[in-house]
Amino acid sequence: MILTVTLNPSMDSIYFTDTFSIGAMNRCNNPVKAVGGKGINASRTAAILGSRVQAIGVLAGENGKLIQTHLETEHFDSFFLTIPGESRNAVTIMDQAKNQTEIVELGPEITDTTAKEILQKIITLTTSEKEVTTIAVCGSANTKNEQLYKNYLEEIQASLGNSIKVLTDLSGIQLKNVLTGPVKPYFIKPNIQEFSELIGQPLKQKKDVIPYLSHELLDNVPFVLISCGSLGALARVNNQLFDITIPQIEVVNPTGSGDATVGGIAYGLDQHFSIEETLRYAMACGMSNALEKKVGFVTMTNVLALKNQINIVKIKNI
Ligand code: ATP
Repeated sequence: MILTVTLNPSMDSIYFTDTFSIGAMNRCNNPVKAVGGKGINASRTAAILGSRVQAIGVLAGENGKLIQTHLETEHFDSFFLTIPGESRNAVTIMDQAKNQTEIVELGPEITDTTAKEILQKIITLTTSEKEVTTIAVCGSANTKNEQLYKNYLEEIQASLGNSIKVLTDLSGIQLKNVLTGPVKPYFIKPNIQEFSELIGQPLKQKKDVIPYLSHELLDNVPFVLISCGSLGALARVNNQLFDITIPQIEVVNPTGSGDATVGGIAYGLDQHFSIEETLRYAMACGMSNALEKKVGFVTMTNVLALKNQINIVKIKNI
């Protein structure tokens, strides 16, 4: 069983338009609407693949009620705490040139009290559900506490030990604080821009990343995946580096492909697949998501077809 944490769920609206222009009145067809947030998208992906998933997080205000209604139709279990404020809207515009323009609200504030309540829920659920193999902590949080996720890792380890794999899909200061803290996550998945920001180096292409896969910030993180969009990914698994290439596809909407990738990783780990098979599922999930209008959504048919077209080459040991 997989447990996911989403401290900033969203109500997503995705507009597809062939006539988008900045500074003008843009008329569009009705948007594709769905519930989002990195952890929720990863939950949906892993549940579609067949894992049992429990999503944990917070909801607020009228949007929170709407999100709750949508969550009831998903194929995973949910526990979402109601907090003051308003859950966010996230608007994506996919235009004629396949640009993705996103407008994403901040979301309700996560106070220390809320953060503690959620942490307690993670620990009690994991303790009572003996089958939890993996906890995926995903996405931004509107919080003044820059140590929030670092504290989560420490508390989870203190309460649950090392037997459960903790995956984090974070960016910015929260990721940096997690990586400089005493308890490392089992897995991280920055995309190339997030990794560039993390290490303070301008990384443009996949090959630019390779020398930095031995960066000290990655020390003691067993499984690092740097996702590179249509170019696939680079992985560092313990001391081995892998170049992962993927076939070209006719992209519909790549938003949420990273979240689907994390869902695929969580699924592979939950099923105790080999690292190679886990990487195949992860890449296939990212691609399958990119083939859909919906965000954080994959089809088993596409995942199974794509996973055999992924090329994984060992580059070297470090
Ligand atoms: P997001 O933040 O939108 O969830 P991300 O930036 O974290 O995405 P990406 O690196 O864009 O993640 O994508 C993750 C994976 O999804 C890639 O490694 C790849 O397997 C697949 N993918 C993403 N974009 C494309 C694309 N344009 N064509 C094919 N595959 C893609």
